[in-house]
Amino acid sequence: MLRHGPFVPELVEVERLAEAHSNYVRLENLGSVTTGQTSFPILGLVMGNQDPSAPTYGLFAGVHGLERVGTHVLLAFLRTLFVKRAWDPEWESFFEKNRLVSIPVINPTGFALNRRSNARGVDLMRNAPVEADGKLLLGVSGQTWSHHLPWYRGHDGLEIETKIVGDFVERHMFNAKAAVSLDLHSGFGMKDRLWYPWAHSAAVFPHGPSVERLVQLFETTYPYHVYKIEPQHHSYMTHGDIWDWLYMRHQEKHLGTPYLPFTLEMGSWMWVKKNPMQMFMADGFFNPVKKHRYARTMRRHLHLLEFLLRSVGPYSHWA
Ligand SMILES: [Zn+2]
Repeated sequence: MLRHGPFVPELVEVERLAEAHSNYVRLENLGSVTTGQTSFPILGLVMGNQDPSAPTYGLFAGVHGLERVGTHVLLAFLRTLFVKRAWDPEWESFFEKNRLVSIPVINPTGFALNRRSNARGVDLMRNAPVEADGKLLLGVSGQTWSHHLPWYRGHDGLEIETKIVGDFVERHMFNAKAAVSLDLHSGFGMKDRLWYPWAHSAAVFPHGPSVERLVQLFETTYPYHVYKIEPQHHSYMTHGDIWDWLYMRHQEKHLGTPYLPFTLEMGSWMWVKKNPMQMFMADGFFNPVKKHRYARTMRRHLHLLEFLLRSVGPYSHWA
């Protein structure tokens, strides 16, 4: 499932899912990006209540082209959700009141080229106009030396992909009474980390109390969950974080309205530790390779993704 050819099978799967459920999922073609002669669409999915003020959950993945597993977890969740929706009428009434929006593959050229950055060598998670103001890790926090090196921030402002994510989130989430988003990554450490802002600063996150209440709800609902939950800067600080930027943009327009952008960083070192040979595969550092471990990863996060979706409805419990 994780093997891939010169095209991006995950994009085909997004189209297939949208088509199979076109009675309630809308596929949005948000723009395209190219590498060489090939152009790839950036696809968005939208379902549920279209009133801009409806509480909204955003699911994002594939910012980094090597971290395919994030997209796979997201799509596994959507497939389960669509099956549940077909037989459980409670989901019908949930989506009459709330909205789900998603971009499952933010960086298609990175997927096609099997690399972290986009085709222009820019790390999309270092590209937003946000400057970090604390202790930085040389290079890793974002650099402007060269697009031949990782963590390159770019020189021409926003990349197409960053702009598309920003516009999509603004259009579908900024006017919501309450919004929660999750962006799925893999690669850092032995633990699955659930991060919230800030990534660029050690300052207190303005919606910290809402995060605390939501996390408390999660922890009482799922006392045996696997996550280490912390502001991202506890692990490391970066320039150009998309979610710091979008949260700030959101608050400029809707000061105080709750918008909680979470990032899931699946700890890929545990997969590598159990199967060291995968170190020698191009994407082995960032994805589970063995079949049983892949399956375990697909089911491991379903309850988190569903909890966050469910939480936007009764948002008064945490906002
Ligand atoms: Zn990543």
